[in-house]
Amino acid sequence: MRVETLAHEIDIDGWRAAARRLRVAAVAPEHARFRVAGSGQGGLLDQIEETPVEAAAAPAFAVPKAFLDLAGEVILHRSADRFDLMYRLLWRLKDEPNLMRITTDRDVADALERAKNVSRASHKMKAFVRFRRIEDQAGEAWVAWFEPAHRVLEKTAGFFVRRFTTMRWSILTPDGSAMWDGESLAFGPPATRDMAPDGDAVEDYWKTYYASTFNPARLKTKTMQGEMPKRYWKNLPEASLIPELTALSAVRTTTMVEAAPTPVNARLARAVAPDARVSGSVDDVVAATLPELDRAIQGCRRCPLWRDATQGVCGEGPRQAKLMVVGEQPGDQEDLAGKPFVGPAGQVFNAALEDAGIDRADVYVTNAVKHFKHEPRGKRRLHKTPNAGEVTACRWWLDQERRLVKPKVILALGGTAGLGVLGRKPAVTRERGQPIALEDGATGLITVHPSYLLRLPDEAGRVRERAAFVEDLKAVRRLL
Ligand code: SF4
Repeated sequence: MRVETLAHEIDIDGWRAAARRLRVAAVAPEHARFRVAGSGQGGLLDQIEETPVEAAAAPAFAVPKAFLDLAGEVILHRSADRFDLMYRLLWRLKDEPNLMRITTDRDVADALERAKNVSRASHKMKAFVRFRRIEDQAGEAWVAWFEPAHRVLEKTAGFFVRRFTTMRWSILTPDGSAMWDGESLAFGPPATRDMAPDGDAVEDYWKTYYASTFNPARLKTKTMQGEMPKRYWKNLPEASLIPELTALSAVRTTTMVEAAPTPVNARLARAVAPDARVSGSVDDVVAATLPELDRAIQGCRRCPLWRDATQGVCGEGPRQAKLMVVGEQPGDQEDLAGKPFVGPAGQVFNAALEDAGIDRADVYVTNAVKHFKHEPRGKRRLHKTPNAGEVTACRWWLDQERRLVKPKVILALGGTAGLGVLGRKPAVTRERGQPIALEDGATGLITVHPSYLLRLPDEAGRVRERAAFVEDLKAVRRLL
């Protein structure tokens, strides 16, 4: 028996090197075992004598990238035989080059299932890590204790770096710890529960948030435990509310059905039917008020953009506004403030509104997409344009804003906003300023996004385009 010792539990490089050695030496899977140094997993393996390999060396061969990617995931699984499984697959690939495409094969199916479990554990970690605030010598810092189902700390830490770039934080787990100091990410040794602080004001925030977004009409205990497995409850402040909220659900469901809003189209009509409400998910909330809509957006998972954003940014303005202005998406400052149009483009927009004789306090301003899409560049988060799928997914919420506010005129700022309002990408230059009859009775208009004015390179161009933008806003005012 040939026993290969790996440096640690997720030693993918060590496993690759050892597997390559074994494969080149033609050691069959039944004669090879892997163990992790210092894991105490030796047991029987320690009693097995390591024998030199006498078989003839096999020629080197290439493996598909998909296999290596899969190995990288499976090795994060907690099962003790994960290294052996992947070596068995590697061995078989030599004679079965298409093996990885045969998803009904027992070994392939097993590996895919383990990779799925790892992916799910990573997803749960993103959803259920709860930071507690502490003060240390350098000031404010945040610490979280988390027990992932599989060894996904390293795999998932990048998400928290992107999400909480400007904070100093640590995530402690039984497998290891991750520390971010605002500039670099470091990994450290395993931790214990008592090394993390207990409850603070943030805990109350989570409880309030959960209580406000808990939808009794959709209470399905099994589904809820699938989404928020019980193993995570002990570290979730809001989980302490579940028994009470569950008990109250019948009462609250009746209240909600009575308060069901009037639909504006067939899709909403289906969704507000009581049976549809009961079977829907949090993404299918049909809000009766703007605050309820805001809360629902915070829990939305209709597209992936929620993952890297600080929060969803719902529209803002009077419920009875005659004018609704739709931008593209929240920017960096809007993402942090939770309010639309507060960044540089918002200031350009406010000044132009004033020049056009429109009071911003009378306008409902929102965006086609409610979460900030961006990519990190050093400490900065650079705007990325939402794609058509994301805009379409988010129309669910824009449609509801339109239903609740019932504006007379809807002004779309730029092509992405136009897609959200019209359901098709408009030709902004050609359609600019032309009234468009919308299905809910409002009049639609398209103009450029104020950020376009900020990007113009020369002063003369900026003056000319700003004047045209103000003229568009004056045309809007005449329609109100
Ligand atoms: Fe949901 Fe819109 Fe956010 Fe996507 S961008 S997660 S659809 S609220």
